[in-house]
Amino acid sequence: MESEVVQEVEALLGREAVAELDFEALEMALRHGTLRLAARAIEQRLNADTSDEVASHVPCRCGGKTHFAGRRTKHFQSVLGPLRLERAYYHCSSCGGGCCPRDKHLGIENTSLSPALTRMTGTVGAMVSFQEGSELLQELAGVDVDTKQVGRTAEALGQEIAEDERHHSEPLDALPLPKTLYLGIDGTGIPLRAEELTDVPSKREGAAKTREVKLCTVWSAESFDSDGTPIRDEGSITYSAAIESASIPDIAKKRSAFAERVWRETQRRRFTQAARTAALGDGAPWIWNLVAELFPGTIEIVDRFHAKQHLSELSKALYGLASPRAALWAKRRHEELDSGQFRALLAAMRRQVVRSERRAVVCTISRAIASECAIRSFTPRDYVLRREL
Ligand SMILES: [Zn+2]
Repeated sequence: MESEVVQEVEALLGREAVAELDFEALEMALRHGTLRLAARAIEQRLNADTSDEVASHVPCRCGGKTHFAGRRTKHFQSVLGPLRLERAYYHCSSCGGGCCPRDKHLGIENTSLSPALTRMTGTVGAMVSFQEGSELLQELAGVDVDTKQVGRTAEALGQEIAEDERHHSEPLDALPLPKTLYLGIDGTGIPLRAEELTDVPSKREGAAKTREVKLCTVWSAESFDSDGTPIRDEGSITYSAAIESASIPDIAKKRSAFAERVWRETQRRRFTQAARTAALGDGAPWIWNLVAELFPGTIEIVDRFHAKQHLSELSKALYGLASPRAALWAKRRHEELDSGQFRALLAAMRRQVVRSERRAVVCTISRAIASECAIRSFTPRDYVLRREL
């Protein structure tokens, strides 16, 4: 094959001087040509091997028996380009179906994409729209996978991953168990196509346009940067997310789907085995309810970004929306929060809350803030408040 590649280069280069060369055109043509050669080589090698005909019959999915019924050809897409593969076909007379055992061995069962191309397709499908994914695969990898195929492949992979996630929650011993483990929980609305939104009750009038995706993440932060600020340990973070509900009817004794997800993820990460555990959230009651239910004793931290937002809201509730006093009060509280003066912060809040006539408003907000006092038990070096959560 090496000599064929050399021949290809020679044919493309011809007698042209290097100074005349269109290098981009050359590298693209060469990649295409080399991949085509490799595709032919692998095709010949696989098609020459008929060892998948050894068995006269193999068991069928339906429980029946299948019989060898010749070799069948199918076209597959691979990172080397199109492949035409011939495989032994076994037919089942009970159900009328059939199978090619080799497809299973090669990992191309029920698909027309090769394993490496399936991986590439999954990567683009997770990062951009299916149409953009199809375009990127063409542009970067030089392979044709149409928009529908990108969508089907990404969704099938997603289902496989989700299935795997539900069935495996064994502790991951490869990651060390640090002194403190952090659990972050958040939820956000994502826009969806109309057909994905049927049966979703809307909070407002009319049909819902979004659904809530919920995320839980576990990490450690034992390391420090050069300034002595705690930073997240590299490689320590894992994520698990889904469009799932965190609420269950009061009469139900079981956990919500999302609570089950959080439980599986924390079991994999040995969260409950850590000497100290902390949960970060934006202060939403559903997050604290879930943390209290699953991990009593875990330190609850409102992330600094949201803590400040809550303090600003509180200042407006206390002094009125447009009052300059509101802005000043919030600024002072933000400073106290930044410098770790939690006692002063809480005292100022309580003072104003007692004075305020709008206690109902204040209480729901200050409840979120109050959990902030839990971080008093941390030395400044020990906690990391992350804006991104
Ligand atoms: Zn069958």
